[in-house]
Amino acid sequence: MHTIGILALQGAFLEHRQMLEGLGVEHFEIRQPGDLNRPMDGLILPGGESTAMGKLMECLGMLKPLKERIADGLPVFGTCAGMILLAKDLGDEPRRFLQVMDIRVLRNAYGRQLGSFFTRGTFAGMEEVPMTFIRAPYIEKVTAPDVEVLATVDGNIIAARQRNMLVTSFHPELNDNQRIHRYFLNLIG
Ligand code: GLN
Repeated sequence: MHTIGILALQGAFLEHRQMLEGLGVEHFEIRQPGDLNRPMDGLILPGGESTAMGKLMECLGMLKPLKERIADGLPVFGTCAGMILLAKDLGDEPRRFLQVMDIRVLRNAYGRQLGSFFTRGTFAGMEEVPMTFIRAPYIEKVTAPDVEVLATVDGNIIAARQRNMLVTSFHPELNDNQRIHRYFLNLIG
């Protein structure tokens, strides 16, 4: 039985909670550094506003411990802003956050105004899953050979995995399809 910590400083953490509840998976919210001491088998970084989340993590002194835990192998699933938090390379963006995953991510890649859309696409060779994009980033480039591309839409990389790290540009927690969360739970083992 897994226990998943969900970063709950800002953004769509509630929807991840509901998804895990639906799957019958134990979870708790991470709101302060002390929460990082609770035993967890995996971590979810939700969508939201990466700059706001990053600032809060920095103010609360959570960037360094989180970075270390992930680098040590803690399985992590970053959706949308969560992907931005994990990326080592954010191109021209002035800020970097956890910098653990070898991907170059473009923020607001679909434009700021018309950036929200819905589509269906294949993920990791499985059947099609619903994909909701909200001012989403995409991966411009994978920068290490062990990054596996899991999904593309219109030729852009929108899901990938590197070792213990899984990222999606879209929000699987906003649709009632559990495939992506199940994929993450399988990754934990
Ligand atoms: N545009 C947001 C950012 O740059 C991400 C949007 C999302 O998480 N839905 O952080």
